[in-house]
Formats: sequence, C-alpha cells, structure tokens
Amino acid sequence: MEKKSLLYEGKAKKVYETENEQQLIVEYKDDATAFNGLKKGTVAGKGIINNQMSNRLMQLIEKSGVPTHFIQELSKRETLVKRVRIVPLEVIIRNISAGSFSKRYGVEEGIEFDSPTIEFSYKNDELGDPLLNSYHALALKLATKDEIETIKDYSFRINEILKKIWKECGVILVDFKLEFGKTADGSVVLADEISPDTCRLWDAETKKKLDKDRFRRDLGGTEDAYAEVMSRLTGYLSENR
Ligand code: UDP
Repeated sequence: MEKKSLLYEGKAKKVYETENEQQLIVEYKDDATAFNGLKKGTVAGKGIINNQMSNRLMQLIEKSGVPTHFIQELSKRETLVKRVRIVPLEVIIRNISAGSFSKRYGVEEGIEFDSPTIEFSYKNDELGDPLLNSYHALALKLATKDEIETIKDYSFRINEILKKIWKECGVILVDFKLEFGKTADGSVVLADEISPDTCRLWDAETKKKLDKDRFRRDLGGTEDAYAEVMSRLTGYLSENR
C-alpha cells in the first residue's frame, strides 16, 4: 500500500490517503507539543516507539474483543488503518490522581482510586478541549446515546486490558486518553494512538515517570523513558506469544 495525498497533518502524525478509499496511512513524527501547542519540541525516536507501541497494544485490545482501526504496520513509522470519522470526544480514564485531575480538585498526584473514572472533553483546539459530560455531548450531537454507551463500555474494558499488560511490565497505568472513530458501516472502533504521549506510565517500584510528563515538565530523559517502556513491553510480548 502506498501513500497518496496528504489528508491531514497534526501535532505528532501525518495522515495520508491510499488507493483504497476506506484505508489510510498514519505516519508518526518525532514532534512533541504540550499545553495546547504552546510548548514545542522534538523527542528523537518517539515516532517509531509510538507507532510500534500503539500497534502492539491495539492488537492485544482487538484480541480481547474491542474493535480498533489497526490493519497493518507498514514500516517503523507508518501504519495502515481503517478510515474513520473521529468522534470529537477525548475520553480520559484514570486509575490514579495526576495532571489536570489533581489540579482541578486540589489533590496530590498518586492517590489510587477505588474504581476508575471516566471523563470526556470536546475535541476542539480553539476552545481548548473543554471538559463535558455525556449529556453535553448528546446536546452538541457529538455522538448518539448508543455510541456514547459503547465508547464508555469499550474504554473501561481497554483500561482493564492495559492495566494488566502494564502491571506485567512493572509499570503502573495512571491515566490515558482514547479517541474513537466510526467506520463507513457506522461501527465504533478505537482510533488514534496509545503511547507514552497519551498515557501516564509510572515505574511500579520507583514511581518514576516514563511518559510525556518528562517533556511537559522538563524533567529530562524523555527519549530514555520512552525507550524503557517500549523495551519492557517488547519483553512482555516475547514472553506471552
Ligand atoms: N492526554 C492526551 N491528550 C490531551 C490531554 C490529555 O493524550 O490532549 C492524556 C495525558 O497524557 C494523560 C491523560 O490524558 O495521560 C490525562 O491528562 P490530563 O487530563 O491530566 O491533562 P494534562 O495534565 O496532561 O494536561
């Protein structure tokens, strides 16, 4: 499959059309942004890690019964995916307090929840991705009631799948962001990516941050942290074939 016209260029990825109208090629870049584009930089090798990690995790998620956009990894940075219409909702699942949750509710980072939380934000850069609930999403016609129910169900199932995998890797899954899309036949599938750009991953022993917070907060060692989580996942996969 070959890339044809560039359909879209985002902060961390480029998306190309292919000769198949229902399939797109995603190309992962090393560019990193944070705080709604205010902070810019590059993380060398990030595109390769995010592409490979996202694909491995999506394959495991698919095997567990949640549909994804993944079709085939084409190269280190490129993947063939199903063309979807992205539901303009960012879904955030949290197991442990951190980031905007800690800020919003005035609690320290690292508090383990009795059960995971879900929140939505409206995917809209101009508005700064405002937080909303499912009633707001319905009112704004961002998705139907059934679609929202499916998205919630899939998101919590994905959390259980990912928590278990990362636990085996000695990594705590603190929180993460998901995006869903609708395929031509109207079914909801997991889209976008699952990577250290979109998840908070802490070392289980030391609680060291192994994710994009290293870049956001200028902690240094971002490249090494991404490589570390990828190598742990690779180890897990080779033991669980
Ligand atoms: N996240 C993301 N994209 C966004 C916002 C958040 O991938 O535009 C991820 C982030 O990496 C973290 C989780 O979603 O794993 C929760 O992020 P939070 O709401 O705490 O926001 P942040 O503190 O990152 O601004």
